Amino acid sequence: MIRDLVRRDVVNLKNYQVHMQQCRYKMDANESPFDLSEDMYEKMADIVKKSRPNIYPDPMATRLREAISEYAGVPADRIMVGNGSDDLIHGLMNSFVEKDDCVIYPEPSFSMYRIYTLIAGARPVGIPLGDEFQYDTDEFMRAVYRYSPKVVFLCTPNNPTGNTIAREDIVKVLDCVKGLLVVDEAYFEFCGNSVVELTEKYPNLVVLRTFSKAMGLAGLRVGYMISSQEVIGEMYKTKSPYNLNSLSQAIACEVLKSGSYKERVDYIVKERDRLYMRLKEIKGVKSYPSHANFILIKVADAEGVHRRLIEKGVLVRSFKGDPYLDDCLRVTVNTAEANDYFIEALKEIMSR
Ligand code: PMP
Repeated sequence: MIRDLVRRDVVNLKNYQVHMQQCRYKMDANESPFDLSEDMYEKMADIVKKSRPNIYPDPMATRLREAISEYAGVPADRIMVGNGSDDLIHGLMNSFVEKDDCVIYPEPSFSMYRIYTLIAGARPVGIPLGDEFQYDTDEFMRAVYRYSPKVVFLCTPNNPTGNTIAREDIVKVLDCVKGLLVVDEAYFEFCGNSVVELTEKYPNLVVLRTFSKAMGLAGLRVGYMISSQEVIGEMYKTKSPYNLNSLSQAIACEVLKSGSYKERVDYIVKERDRLYMRLKEIKGVKSYPSHANFILIKVADAEGVHRRLIEKGVLVRSFKGDPYLDDCLRVTVNTAEANDYFIEALKEIMSR
């Protein structure tokens, strides 16, 4: 009966599946392995003491947007914050995507581009990446001419493959797209390349970023987008008034200002490169070069390897049922100790 009431676009969707398995090493969700510093906990305690939970948060997140403005080098009026960047992907659909519009995105990539497109009642079109998961820009441009998409998503570095798309290729797509081009830079800090400054020239360019990865605040749900004033203005029309709570706003501000994430990013980048070299030594494991905080690997019987890693206390991400990621697993870079433990566990599994 209730099923008869559900929107046709939603009735066949499945919940976002998260493996909540307790493991010694959690290396499945591209989070930061680091807790915040003692210093930051003191600041957080102060924030909590001064907070007024009975009062609504600043709907414009003014202080946080000012801090992001300084960090990203764009005026605050071209920035909007969201309850994670997921919230902003959803917001883009709400403001720009109508039933039967087409939305294109790379495949494989972050699954929520497709899901939010389906929820909007629009038509998702995945553009397959190449044999080594490289972006095929010509294929993207052909798809742009063929489908006239309302929104095109590019993810760089791409989750879960770790590769980037060159800036000149992004510009090529920008020059032919009539809808919005969204460049998801969730892993920007681990790679350093950004197209943020192109938002000055291209009013239809949107850059998405998050505090969930390099900044280590996945639990506080803070994301932001940078675009033109026109796009941001349209986004405000559909935004939930108080989409980001006051504690998350204040803490994200402090973390950004403290600059403490920089050292941690350097550490993860070094560990990523070390992990990649060590993975290359293991027979039967193919690893893909990454510019993010994770590495995609291919093994025979990924499900078996996934299960045996869990038995040994390591949780990585499996992609069971995804035709583009047959026999792939994604491992999030962790501390040196965890990475070494993972390598030894995988070596042992692969030698059986
Ligand atoms: N974009 C990409 C490419 C991601 O990998 C993720 C999280 N896995 C997100 C967006 C969403 O991040 P959040 O909602 O935590 O900001």
